[in-house]
This record gives sequence, C-alpha cells and structure tokens, in this order.
Amino acid sequence: MASDPAAASSSAGRLVDRAVRATGGCACGGVRYRITGHLRDVVHCHCEPCRRITGHHMAATAALRSDVQFESEDSLRWYQRTDTVRYGFCSTCGATLFWEAADKADMVSIAGGTLDQPTGLTTVLAIWADAASDYHCLDDTIETYGVDRSGY
Ligand SMILES: [Zn+2]
Ligand SMILES: [Zn+2]
Repeated sequence: MASDPAAASSSAGRLVDRAVRATGGCACGGVRYRITGHLRDVVHCHCEPCRRITGHHMAATAALRSDVQFESEDSLRWYQRTDTVRYGFCSTCGATLFWEAADKADMVSIAGGTLDQPTGLTTVLAIWADAASDYHCLDDTIETYGVDRSGY
C-alpha cells in the first residue's frame, strides 16, 4: 500500500485527509489501518474456514484495496488457505483482520469488529448459514443464504 502524503503532513495527531471513512486495528495495535472510501455493509459468513479462523463467524465489511492504508502493519501476517483465498491476522494478538480472494482482487474484506466505533454500518446478509455451528443463533431478520458453492 502506498503511504498517504496527507497523513505525513498532518500535525498534532490530527488527520488532515477529509476523506477518511473509518479507522481500525487489532487488539494489540500491531496492525492499524484507515479507509478513505466506501465501506460495504456487514456480511456474516458462516462457512467452516471462517468459523474456525474467527472462532465463531466472519462479520465483514469490505473496501477497495486502494482505499486501505496501513498506519502499522508490523504484525500483519497472511494465512493462504487456498490458492485463491487468504486471511489476514495479527501475529501478536491473533486478531482476525482481513479476507481476500483472487477473483475479487480489487477488494479486501475487513473484520467488522476491528473497526473503531462507531462504524455506522448495518448487518445486511448472512451466507453459508447451513455451516454455522449448532449452538449459533441465526438472525432471521437478515437475508440469509444456506450453503453457497460460490467460492467463499
Ligand atoms: Zn495485534
Ligand atoms: Zn467464510
């Protein structure tokens, strides 16, 4: 990611880039990011890889990769789950942070819980609901799909 000259020229800790939409990071602060463009509303993914990696399910917003800048990424590591899908996590605190897929190369999914509050986002969709753990209470107020073989 290219660094943003607006951030380098900020003073007194105040970002001068008016387009910053959101900031976020992991629990230990080893990864800190900011997003300067549109954020998609939140999608829950209950697929088995997301369930095991997050410990429950993925609740992710998404942004253009070109809109994501890192203030700190020293502890960011990637788990290449398949040839085309990888998860980003913090190697210090273990936080789930990102998900990327080769067929959506311009986008990055961002674990919603890592965003600083308030996010201003809404949960709009659940996918792979059939793979949710048996203890999980699915939310019947949001649009929900079962097992979807589209590559998640
Ligand atoms: Zn961390
Ligand atoms: Zn998933």
